[in-house]
Amino acid sequence: MERGEIVLLLKDIGYRPRHFKFTVSPEEMDYDGEYSVVSDARILVTVARTDTGYRLKVEGEVRVRFVCSRCLDEYEEDFVFEDENLLRRGRYEGGISLKDEDVESIFIEKDEIDLLPIIREIFISQLPINPLCSPDCRGLCPVCGLKLEAGVTHEHDHRSDTRKLGVILQAALKEGGKK
Ligand SMILES: [Zn+2]
Ligand SMILES: [Zn+2]
Repeated sequence: MERGEIVLLLKDIGYRPRHFKFTVSPEEMDYDGEYSVVSDARILVTVARTDTGYRLKVEGEVRVRFVCSRCLDEYEEDFVFEDENLLRRGRYEGGISLKDEDVESIFIEKDEIDLLPIIREIFISQLPINPLCSPDCRGLCPVCGLKLEAGVTHEHDHRSDTRKLGVILQAALKEGGKK
């Protein structure tokens, strides 16, 4: 599939911030990782000229199906991502002071820029490494693999298991004896 482009013409951009709202389809997000993009991404781009180039802010929201890293359940979440970049003219030659906070610079040679790779990169870099279906997900029991729920006691004390087994055996014997 040919990759789409979302071209922003920079020469029309002045010092006053301009806003661009659009959606990006899951195919265009072209994310091929552990999770799935299950909706169009709603994107807001804010761009303004600066003395050295342009300042570009990307805010996005997209529904993603994650796999919980503790209980392995799938869950969906409206995932929000956002970042700012400085667009600078010319090529990166090193030695440029990047004292403008910790905003990353992208070097541009033309008066236009394809926003799609930037959106995709921000989205992917902000995906959680260990997603959780809920902040207090208790994960799976390491002994029996059952999903542990809050407020439900679930223990594997070896002795109590043996005792339980004893009770079950006794009950079974009684049942058998009745016959
Ligand atoms: Zn979970
Ligand atoms: Zn268990």
